[in-house]
Order: sequence, then structure tokens, then C-alpha cells
Amino acid sequence: MSFMKVPVVDVHTDNFKEIWPSMLLAVRTANFIALDTELSGLGTRKALLAQSIEDRYKAICQAARTRSVLSLGIASFKELSDKPGGTYLTQVYNITLLCMDEYIIEPQSVQFLVQHGFDFNKQYSKGIPYHKGNDKPNECRGQNMRALFLEIIQSKKPLILHNGLIDLAFLYQCFYANLPDQLMTFTADVSEMFPAGVYDTKYASEVETRFVSSYLEYAYKKCRRENTRLIDTSNRHLSIEFCNYKQAFTGYIDYRHCNLPEADKVTGEGIGICERFSAYGWCPNGVKCSLSHNTDLIIDEDERINDKRKKKKARRKRRQHTVESSDNPTECSVADNMAPTDVPPSKLLCDNTSVEPEIMDTGEVAQEKLLSNVQLPGATLDAEGSEDNLSGVEKQGEFISNSKMENNPEDQKCTRTELVEKSKVEKYEGGTHRAGFDAFMTGFIMAYILIWKNGSTKMDPWLPDCHNKLYLSGKAIPLQICKSSFSKSSKAHQVKIELLREKH
Ligand SMILES: [Zn+2]
Repeated sequence: MSFMKVPVVDVHTDNFKEIWPSMLLAVRTANFIALDTELSGLGTRKALLAQSIEDRYKAICQAARTRSVLSLGIASFKELSDKPGGTYLTQVYNITLLCMDEYIIEPQSVQFLVQHGFDFNKQYSKGIPYHKGNDKPNECRGQNMRALFLEIIQSKKPLILHNGLIDLAFLYQCFYANLPDQLMTFTADVSEMFPAGVYDTKYASEVETRFVSSYLEYAYKKCRRENTRLIDTSNRHLSIEFCNYKQAFTGYIDYRHCNLPEADKVTGEGIGICERFSAYGWCPNGVKCSLSHNTDLIIDEDERINDKRKKKKARRKRRQHTVESSDNPTECSVADNMAPTDVPPSKLLCDNTSVEPEIMDTGEVAQEKLLSNVQLPGATLDAEGSEDNLSGVEKQGEFISNSKMENNPEDQKCTRTELVEKSKVEKYEGGTHRAGFDAFMTGFIMAYILIWKNGSTKMDPWLPDCHNKLYLSGKAIPLQICKSSFSKSSKAHQVKIELLREKH
């Protein structure tokens, strides 16, 4: 699996009806479904990061009511029982959408979207129309976005998201019903909409695999590398298969190539890694940054540091052992069995810009969510553009992730080496950054963690520590999706669920 060509089905008004049956089949037969959205904006950043989660939810609601989903990525993962454990058939769809209600796009957002190759022509000419809020009469019949979202709910499959709270709120507001005013009501509704559970791969990357960074592209690429190590060392590992799409479909498919870096070819020599990007998947300089935003190089660097640390630790242990065994042999075992810290490992930024991102006030913050949520036609991108695109700028919330920074002196060594023709070294892996592929990466992370942790999807729930928990930027604890004994579900949701029950 060092080479992978991911087919992404490009869905729009011209082919929606044609592709509809295959999408339904994909949803209904999947073991789990990963979703990702691209949004027109987010509104006030500060409020989205409010200390109080209830305030944060209010800000997200405000954003979801006034902004829109520009495209939706769906990736279905079906375990193939006739194949060796850990083989999935995967289908990836990227749906271009057009919200028919008025919505806000901030001027700087438009500029930014266009700069990053967003095709507004395609959106307005081929976007699948939808309107937000509660159902209009008979709206859930036929082939439209609300009906498709209901199909996903009806399939009762686990829902997989990456840093998913904002996605979930926008999905609810755009394709389901008006968001309830209370966070408690929202989580009660969601727990009934997705009875098999919601998993957030950003949270899982921190809690289960304990990666030092967890922005989407980092977690995905790290999982791919770890998976090749599983192939070498264990009898179970993740294999992904794709459909052989029939002739009629081939015109709608974009292939996204993603290769594992070849150690001898891709070297970061001479290029300083952008520490901020490395930690958060985000950097205020964006494409203009003179340091590397290449996630493969970043992972290389992290693995080197980790190896060094392990060796050092082993040396220290050996020394300690010699001293202690001559001294007091019983204490030695205590030291060896010391419980690892419960805080996931993370990076510490070294330069003077390493203020906690949570307290940064910058307009660019908004654009990072947008950047990750923009469709970028690969063909029109030059080396610089594709570098930024591929380095995967993550969701706006990502860069606030590492509030729990470990004070590790080894991480503080900052390397700012001379820049040498960055574009040449980093110019590989063509393709686009879009909702479909992001959904695929999200599902891949989930599938990998399941194999690595459990060996199969037979466990129930799959990952008890991550079941119904959504990542919260800057918070050590996740948001629990549940219906507490004090919370009721919303009226609009009850009506919809009742209709679904009647249909069956
Ligand atoms: Zn940078």
C-alpha cells in the first residue's frame, strides 16, 4: 500500500440522480461512514473558542444559521468478510452544493477562496440546491440532500468525523432541522440520530494512538506509515480496496494519488520545518511561509526525535539499573513500572511566536477553516499552490489543539536552516484538497485505529474511550454526545425521528 490512487466521485446536479443509487448502496452496506464539510465561513473566531462550551455552541449555531455548507464529502467503509481481516471496500463522494437561502460570505473569505482555486462558477452552475432549517412539506421524499442525510441516519452506522463538532452542527442545520438553542438538546438529538455512535478521529488520534500532532493530514499520513509497520510485524493490517466503477461513471471520477514517501527520495535536508505548522497544521504565513509545511518531512522529523528520545531513555535506564541494582534492587522495578503520563504527547513551540494560539487574535484563523474547506482543482495549481494544498491546512480549530504542552527540552531545539528550492523538493503528490478526500482520510484513520487497537470491528463499542466523544479545541476533555436524564430532545428532531419510524 505504498502507492494508493483514491477515486473520488464528483457529484453535482448533472449526475446526482444517476449516482444516487450507488450512494445509497454505499451508505446502506457500510460498516461506518466518514463525513467532512467545506463551509462558506465561520463568523466570529473568538466566540468559537470561548471558554464556556455552552457559549461556544451558541457561536457555532450562529455560524451555522448564517453561513452554508459548500460541499460535503462522504466516505463509506465496508469490511470485506471474505478477505483477510482489515480489508475494506471504500467509496468516496464529493458533493458540490448550493444553499438556496441567503448566507454570508465575508469579502476576505471570497478573496481567499478564489486565491486557493475555489470554483464559484461550478458551485453556482452545478451545485445541488438545498435550503436550511426545518423540513418543508414532502421535502424528504425524492432525491435531494435532506433525503440523502436521512438515509445516512437511517443506515444506523457509526459516524466518523475529524474535529467534528462544527461539521455536525452545520450538517444538522443545513440538512436536518433548525439547531436547538441548548447544547444539551443538541447532544441528545445527535445521540438518537446516530445510535451506533459518533467518533472523532482527532480525539482518537490523541487518546488512542497518542500522535504528537493530530491535524487531519498528519494523523492520516502517520496512520499510513504505522500501517506499513504493521504489515511487517503483525498478521493484521489495514488494506483498502476501491470499486471498479462502470464505464458511465468514469467521467465523474477524480483520482487522488497518495504515495508514502520514499526515504531515499524525499529528504528534508536544508529545509527548516515550520514549527507552528508542525504542531497545529496551521501557520499564519500560509503559502508565503519560507519554512516547510510538508507533513511527510514533519513526520520524518518527529520520528527522528522520538527515536533519539527512546535511545536516550534506554541508556538512562541501563545506567539507572546498574546503580540501583547495586544499591537497592527492589526500587528498580518501581521505576520501570512508572505509569506513563495521562496527557497525550504534544509539541512545544520554540520561538517567540509560540503564544498559545487560543489567545491569538488573527483574521487568518478564519481562513484556515476555509482553506481546508475549499475545493481546489489540482490542475490549476502551481508548485507553490499545491504545496500548500497538500500540506493540508487543517480545520480552523486544529491549531488550538495543543494546549497541553509538555515541557520537553528536546523539542525546544529550533532548526531554521537555509531554504533551498522548497518548491522542487516538496512538489509531489498531485491532487486536490476537498471534502471527499478529507472524508476518506478521516475514515482511513478510524479503520487503522480499529485494526491496530482491536484487530476487528467486532467489539462493541469499537473504541470505548472515544465512543460518542467530540474533540474540543483547547480543552483536555471531549464533548460527550449523550442524552442525559435532564435533557430532552428537540421538537423538530422528534417529529423527524417519528416519521422515520413510520416509514419502517
Ligand atoms: Zn509556516
